Amino acid sequence: MDLANFIDGKFVSPISGAYLDNFEPATGLVYSRCPASTAADVDVAVAAAKRAFPAWASTRVEERSRTLLRVADLLEARLEEFARAESQDQGKPIWLARTVDIPRAVSNFRFFATAVLHQASESFDMDGVALNYTHRRPVGVAGLISPWNLPLYLLTWKIGPALATGNTAVCKPSELTPMTAYLLGEVMQEAQLPDGVCNMVFGTGPQAGAALTGHRDVPLISFTGGTTTAEIINRQIAPMFKKSSLELGGKNPNVIFSDANIEKAVATSVRSSFLNQGEICLCGSRIFVQESVYKDFLARFISATRAWTVGDPSDDNVKMGALVSRGHLDKVLGYVDLARQLGGTIEIGGDQPRLNGKFKNGYFLNPTVISGLDPLCDVMQEEIFGPVVTVTPFRDETEALELANGVKYGLAASVWTSDVSRAHRFAQSLECGIVWVNCWLKRDLRTPFGGVKASGIGREGGTYSLDFYTEPKNICMAWE
Ligand code: NAD
Repeated sequence: MDLANFIDGKFVSPISGAYLDNFEPATGLVYSRCPASTAADVDVAVAAAKRAFPAWASTRVEERSRTLLRVADLLEARLEEFARAESQDQGKPIWLARTVDIPRAVSNFRFFATAVLHQASESFDMDGVALNYTHRRPVGVAGLISPWNLPLYLLTWKIGPALATGNTAVCKPSELTPMTAYLLGEVMQEAQLPDGVCNMVFGTGPQAGAALTGHRDVPLISFTGGTTTAEIINRQIAPMFKKSSLELGGKNPNVIFSDANIEKAVATSVRSSFLNQGEICLCGSRIFVQESVYKDFLARFISATRAWTVGDPSDDNVKMGALVSRGHLDKVLGYVDLARQLGGTIEIGGDQPRLNGKFKNGYFLNPTVISGLDPLCDVMQEEIFGPVVTVTPFRDETEALELANGVKYGLAASVWTSDVSRAHRFAQSLECGIVWVNCWLKRDLRTPFGGVKASGIGREGGTYSLDFYTEPKNICMAWE
């Protein structure tokens, strides 16, 4: 099957006629092709979005809201089909796509379609001299670039607020996982989203992505992906003074103090290490455990990891599917080899499971736990983004904080303790954008989302997104 770009309300072939093979991670076989779009396709999409902008921006907010709620309803009605597509395209278990990815994509549309109805702007009375008020306008054509790990979830987290606030969009989903974004085009057609309001252009980052980020008619870029890619994009867009949000990689600490509920910490740490094959930017990949409970934790954690089964993503009993691509699997295996060379102990995993039949060439990897590494080595400093975690003991709170903050990244962290004072003190000292205390991945859509240091700039979520996708203007009216 050949996918098509979705431009100006229609499905169209790439102008060059070139396509990229799309591999099914669980089998290693090509199962579809996606357009290898070039700057020419991006130009057409941006022109369509630019044409659609004045009418969409001046459409009444209730009307925009109703249209996006229709998108949510129609997407929800096709939940099972989308979950299947996401699982086949990305390698994740279908139950995860069914319970997290697709429902969350539906929520993204519902949340922002309704949040925008309550968007307020401030006004200040200058002691009877003048009235200052903030007038917010949509920015224009938004360039929305998303990664492969939570394909529809992360793309709709951008599309929802961008469209709700009156922008039009050109999206560049990851070339590794184009399927659900392609299907979303059908939903948008069915929901009667006006032509050109949301466009999808498929292709590689350096070709289609760079043409979008560098386009002079795209004043806003929202990017989620790797830190190295963001450096390239930042260099390109900085001289153009584009408004941007960059949500990047992480190397998140998961800190377990001796007074924690170890049973809960183990159960949640297995999820926070290996959910979605460890391919969630918020996964806790560096586990630090206080010395007095280290042995006990490690033994229980290894046994829980053993129960984290790997296999056929369509099997509801399987916990983990395949990694997204051959290249990514090789990268992750490379870090496991490096850990061996550096004298680390592979406590469990580190190899591929032997699967039969159609899965024998799939990109599977057993969940892997490594101990005994120097916290400053590459395995503990660089983002691996797979089912590989390190476990390291620490003495006290001071050392735990030093270890937790001792990386260039600063996205998220988890802390396990029953000491309330320590929980607050430690959480507030961590250098990151999100801290979970005695839990993981619980998040209200209204809260700010994003990282510090090499994990990104900007925040999205709730009013943060409504603000980001609009441009404020201060209007000052003299009373006299
Ligand atoms: P990536 O940076 O390789 O690609 C992300 C997107 O950028 C893709 O659509 C890609 O085609 C595009 N791209 C690549 N080069 C480009 C260029 N020069 N110009 C414009 N676009 C370009 O990232 P990935 O491998 O798809 O995703 C994994 C990364 O994403 C990990 O680092 C992960 O931590 C991060 N991530 C971050 C968050 C977050 O919210 N902080 C969420 C999910 C994933």
